[in-house]
Formats: sequence, C-alpha cells, structure tokens
Amino acid sequence: MITELKSVHDIWKRMPTERHARLFLENAIWGDDRFCPHCGSLSSRPLRSASVRPGLYQCAERDCRSQFTVTTKTPLHATKLDLRIWIAAMFLVLTSSKGISSVVMSRLLGVNQKTAWKLGHAIRELMDDRHGVAGRLSGVVEVDEAFIGGKPKFRHGVKNKRGRGTGKPIALVAAARNGQARAVLIPNAQGGTMKPIMKGWIDPNSVLITDKNSSYRKIGASFANHFTVQHNKREYANRKTGAHINTAEAVNAVVQRALIGVYHRLGHKHLQRYLDEILWRWNHRVPETKVRKRKSCSGFRSTETTTVWKPIPVVDQMRGLLCGAVGREMRRTPAWGLRWP
Ligand SMILES: [Zn+2]
Repeated sequence: MITELKSVHDIWKRMPTERHARLFLENAIWGDDRFCPHCGSLSSRPLRSASVRPGLYQCAERDCRSQFTVTTKTPLHATKLDLRIWIAAMFLVLTSSKGISSVVMSRLLGVNQKTAWKLGHAIRELMDDRHGVAGRLSGVVEVDEAFIGGKPKFRHGVKNKRGRGTGKPIALVAAARNGQARAVLIPNAQGGTMKPIMKGWIDPNSVLITDKNSSYRKIGASFANHFTVQHNKREYANRKTGAHINTAEAVNAVVQRALIGVYHRLGHKHLQRYLDEILWRWNHRVPETKVRKRKSCSGFRSTETTTVWKPIPVVDQMRGLLCGAVGREMRRTPAWGLRWP
C-alpha cells in the first residue's frame, strides 16, 4: 500500500501503470468494502474478459445489475485522462501552500489549460465537508465576517466604504483555537442568516468570541459564554476577558491572500469552492513543536520552543478527499462550464 508520495515523479515511480493508480483509487474510495455506486450493495463481481475495460465490476443485486468502475458517480466520472494525472493534480493542489492556478497546473502536468481548470474544480468539489465528517467546532471559537476582494477601482470623487455595507461577497468565518475552521459565503451579515449556520458549526458548550456587531448579540445566548472585542475602538484584545478574534482574522488573511495571489479573476459562482480549498488546507495541519537551543556569544544557552503548523501527509489527505467521492459527480458542459447531474 502506498503511504507516501514525495513528488509528481514519485507518482509515476510507484504507479508504473494506470492499473496501479486504479488500485490506489479503489483502496481510497472503497477500502475493503467495494460498494455499488448505484444502489450501495456490497456484493459485486469483477468483469474480466479481453473486451471489457479494466476495473469494471457488476453489481450482484438482482434488481440493479449495474456495471461500474471506481470513478463512477465521482468527479472523475467518465474521465479520459490517465488516472495518474488525476493523482498528480491532487498532489499539486494539496501541496501548494497557497493554491495553484490552472495555468501553472497545465504546464506542470502537460495538459490543456481548460483540462487543468476542470481538474482543479473537480478536486475542490471533494473538499467541502457536506457530510459533516469533521464534526463541530468546540472550545473557544471565534467568529468574524470577511469581505472578499481587494480595493475597488479608484474613481475620482467616489469614496468607497470599507467592511460592512460594501457590495463585496461576504464570508462567515469561524475558527476554533485548536486549529479547525469553517467558512461559507452568506448573502448578508444579519443575525437571522448567521445564526443557523453558526449553530450547525459550533458546539453549544463552546465559548463564542465575536466583535461588537449587534447581529451576534442574540446568537451569543445559544452558547456557553459570549465575549466580544470592539474593533472600531481599536480594541483588538479585551484586557479583562482576554478575548480576541485573531485566529478568525488569520483565516481571513489567508483567504484574502490566496484569492489575490492566485485567482486574479474568479467568478462569484466558483468562490465557495475556492473557500473550501483554502479551509481544507487550514484544517489539515497538525501542530509541531520545535525546540531550538541557542548559544549566545557570551556562552549563555537558552532553549526556545516554537509551534509550527505542518500539513498532514499528502497521501492521508488524498484518502480523506476520496473517501467521500461517490455521489459528487460533476461534468463539463460543451461551453466549458460545469454542471452537476
Ligand atoms: Zn447496484
């Protein structure tokens, strides 16, 4: 079993034929229980003959009898690409710390830019936590809104608003201090919009920290405790309670930087998937404590400990992505858009 992939070259070394890549995907998507993507039945048999394409199975359920492969009903459905290209694309998306554009990906993989664009979106499609596998945020949870996008174009005599009240897309961001975070696009920053989302994300026994925005006042009552900081009074950490929302702001900063740096012109309709990608990266890191010994010129020794957040191994991330792949089929439209059958 492949437990580590160090580079794109490593993929071709460890998977010399496409069959190896297929077995890797079968293991990641099905584990030991191969199931029919049409009816969910656990009994099926491989179809083997010279005329049959490799990796084809037939469901043994009497009223199903459908044929399927490991990519059926996943974002890889009906792909014509070598499966190793898919694995390499996943590798690139998961190991680029700030995301990768389709232009760069097409160059690295030797595929058409539009193909790379579809690959990127298919991988992002796997990144949202729609099945709630990640569980609820708990402990101290900070919530903030992010207004996505850079400065508006300068126009003489027009004073642009900042923050609330601009026409920019708004993302609601929640970040627990233990390293997990969530983000979703919301149509407005009103309490009625945010409350159900926050209740779904955050364990009621958590301590909630927000800014002083009145929309949060009522929501705060749903949690064990609610502290606020007053950003408009330049209070970034409350001295008495120790409350701050620096973690949520750090997530915001990562979102802003990724969107400005890589995806210069991105459509609003794809924005949520880019958010999912950025949050996937944030949520798949583990803290690593580093102890450094220092020696000064005078011979004085001191030790310094720092915590670095490192991404979890890429193969583990791939397995995490692929285990929920069935049922997320998406297709390309003739006009190079995307559709979900
Ligand atoms: Zn079936």
